[in-house]
Amino acid sequence: MELKKISSRVFYYPHQPETDRPMLAYIKGEKVALAIDAGNSASHVDEFYKALEIEGLKKPDFTVITHWHWDHTFGMHHINGLSIAHHKTNEFLNQEIAKLSDSAYINFLKTDDECLGREYAENKRIIVVLSDIQFEKKLTLNLGGMTAKIFHMVSPHSEDTVLIYIPEEKILFLGDSTSEDFFNDGYMDKEKLKALINLIESMDCNYCILSHADPLTKSDLLDYLISILD
Ligand SMILES: [Zn+2]
Repeated sequence: MELKKISSRVFYYPHQPETDRPMLAYIKGEKVALAIDAGNSASHVDEFYKALEIEGLKKPDFTVITHWHWDHTFGMHHINGLSIAHHKTNEFLNQEIAKLSDSAYINFLKTDDECLGREYAENKRIIVVLSDIQFEKKLTLNLGGMTAKIFHMVSPHSEDTVLIYIPEEKILFLGDSTSEDFFNDGYMDKEKLKALINLIESMDCNYCILSHADPLTKSDLLDYLISILD
């Protein structure tokens, strides 16, 4: 698969539904290259880096994580450079590391989630690590001619939700934040969704990027989210 271009400085490697691989984004500053999400496995990372190489882009210096779910973090041990995550993401990952010491839990994951089962077929090992850098509220990276504003936000999807805003490009990366909570029987907390909608409305952005969809315009996303509230 090929790397896709949103602008001359923002790229993404498309999501892959059969193994639940999320879209991986790449922000090319003059000094620093930032990736968004580490993907679901070492092979996902390798594929992404291969696609970067074909476009003549260097490997990322930093990789920021949108939330702790396996498809966004199980590739983290294999990235180039340093990883950045919210402190709650690391708390969840720490629990996951403890659970993974039990092979019964690994078998449960593989049968419970068909996508995980496919990604980790043939006894490919699941490796989970914590991030190199963690933050509590927000973090701003000067990438060189471009800024990444990384911040925690309430969301119906997970407690550790992190959004990334690139003001110079008017792009907002939302991870899975607009989706329901799969760990709570798919519950959609409409109050949290409202808070998120209000935030999106207040942001000066043209594109809103969700991890498991093609890029959306801000108005397309808002129309869709408001329809869920009714
Ligand atoms: Zn998720």
